[in-house]
Amino acid sequence: MAKIKSRKTSFYGNEFDSKAEGEFYLLLREDKNVIDIELQPQYTLLSAFSVPCYRCEGNGKVENKKTLRLNKCTLCSGTGKRMRQPWKYTADFRVTYKDGKEEVIDVKGYANERFPLVKKMFESVMGIELVVWQKNNKKGWVRK
Ligand SMILES: [Zn+2]
Repeated sequence: MAKIKSRKTSFYGNEFDSKAEGEFYLLLREDKNVIDIELQPQYTLLSAFSVPCYRCEGNGKVENKKTLRLNKCTLCSGTGKRMRQPWKYTADFRVTYKDGKEEVIDVKGYANERFPLVKKMFESVMGIELVVWQKNNKKGWVRK
């Protein structure tokens, strides 16, 4: 996998993961239609969930082959379940405009293989577009 080159930048005491992100923040601050900018809003794309434990088949107990006694399953601590972590996503900005409209924005300085999946999931869960802006050397800022 190619190495991602991005330098941390800081504006108005806020640190940004990339130069493009910092520059976009400055544009938002200058925009007279913007009344609020939330940095790095977090969203849960998928809640935590569980699957049945394969070792005890969801019973929470396993039979000891020698004693034939049922012991607490050590893999799932006797719960019969294996927990899966929630899927969280942190966008770059949540912007509120004068007219009340809100936008969630991700600024891309580079292509990221996992991102299309994140975008699709976000839009399905939240029911709004995840707005993507990319800085292009020739054209400047391009809305994707
Ligand atoms: Zn188990």
